[in-house]
Amino acid sequence: MNQETAAVWLRRDLRLDDNTALYHALQSGKPVIPVFIFDKHILDELPEADARVEFIHKQIERLQEELTAVGSSMVGRYGVPEEIWPELIEQYQIRQLYINQDYEPYAKSRDAMISEMVGEKGGSTHFFKDQVLFEKEEILSNSDKPYTVFTPYSRKWKAALSQERVSSLPSESIQEYFFKSSALPIPSLAELGFKPYGIPIHQSVFDRDIIKIYDEKRNFPAQKGTTRLGIHLRFGTISIRKLARTAIELNETYLNELIWREFYMQILWNFPHVAIGPFKAQYAGIPWNENEEMFQKWCEGKTGFPLVDAGMRELNETGFMHNRVRMLTASFLVKDLLINWQWGERYFAEKLLDFELSSNNGGWQWAASCGTDAAPYFRIFNPESQMKKFDPGLHYVRKWVPEFGTPVYPNPVVNHKEAREKTLSVFKEVLNSK
Ligand code: FAD
Repeated sequence: MNQETAAVWLRRDLRLDDNTALYHALQSGKPVIPVFIFDKHILDELPEADARVEFIHKQIERLQEELTAVGSSMVGRYGVPEEIWPELIEQYQIRQLYINQDYEPYAKSRDAMISEMVGEKGGSTHFFKDQVLFEKEEILSNSDKPYTVFTPYSRKWKAALSQERVSSLPSESIQEYFFKSSALPIPSLAELGFKPYGIPIHQSVFDRDIIKIYDEKRNFPAQKGTTRLGIHLRFGTISIRKLARTAIELNETYLNELIWREFYMQILWNFPHVAIGPFKAQYAGIPWNENEEMFQKWCEGKTGFPLVDAGMRELNETGFMHNRVRMLTASFLVKDLLINWQWGERYFAEKLLDFELSSNNGGWQWAASCGTDAAPYFRIFNPESQMKKFDPGLHYVRKWVPEFGTPVYPNPVVNHKEAREKTLSVFKEVLNSK
């Protein structure tokens, strides 16, 4: 390449429309090279069949088709960013790098390192906010502190919302500024060391009918009452601005869920210690039950508690679990089996297609009562009454646990009442000792 260029580094923003960094790159006056790196640091940690890697790979192929249609190409590489970027900068004379901000601990240090590298080579890096409407310290309390309680955070969030904040950036309408190239090869899934997983993935279209009555149906796992858009928000195959506009128009409860997502992201950003331990320090030191066999039963959905088992089996088979059941299975692991919430957090992280460090961590800390939530540790779900309330016709249970009600279905692994009493006394003892 004998012309200076700009690059946009796609990561969790796998779309050409309404993409903030891309929009600004395309206005830089330099031909824009879209780059995706299959990052060995991340991929080496994953099993060889991982539905999320397959999903990402498909998205890169889709982007390649979209770019080919406008006479350009993805530049796709496999390796570690710190080795790939110096090569790309050299090869394509990249002078400007455009990036949408990623708030997770690994991403933060990676981006700081690459930005420094670009600077050393005489270029500049430009960061943008794209995956949330409010980031980092944008929503602070009146005393300029990050919020640690959801309700006042959400109030401030809503008050600060403006039309401009949810307006789209029409990156799709200026595609003539992509660099010109024939289609360049993208590493295949096999070259990345992965096998196809084959789980069908919900499409990235938002169903307005579901959002309209979200508040009525969202708690019933047997019904089609939630949007299943988690994976698309995670990898940016939909724009949060478009989704938020629909939420504002149709359903406030749905908007609140999008705010929960941002709440947990700002918690992770402002209190990064949550990634490795409890938000509330006094909850460290619970003498967890390190019972691998019991944990395995929970993982496999063989606890003898039908709604818990249904949830775990749905997760294992589809990579998805309904929110109501995520809350119950998490509560059951921590409060009935007294197993460390971080074991469960890790298991969900491995299995969930929509795995998001901040939300998963927030959800688990909520279930373990050691997170930001003000509810005390003695909130313990009763698996039986949860089932009666949220799956009264047993449709969800019967779908995932067909042997329920037959002699082969296992007996309950614990007595809920006794397990509850034990957990209460263990938690009480630890908290009273601090
Ligand atoms: P919908 O109900 O249609 O909601 C739309 C979107 O809002 C979701 O896709 C998600 O991005 C966001 N959202 C909804 N509820 C929450 C919530 N409570 N917290 C944060 N964001 C929310 N969500 C994840 O995206 N990734 C995770 O790894 C994750 N792990 C969780 C673990 C536990 C223990 C618990 C209790 C919850 C977890 N959640 C997680 C939150 C929630 O369960 C999922 O976002 C939701 O079930 C995804 O289904 P959906 O896309 O149909 O959501």
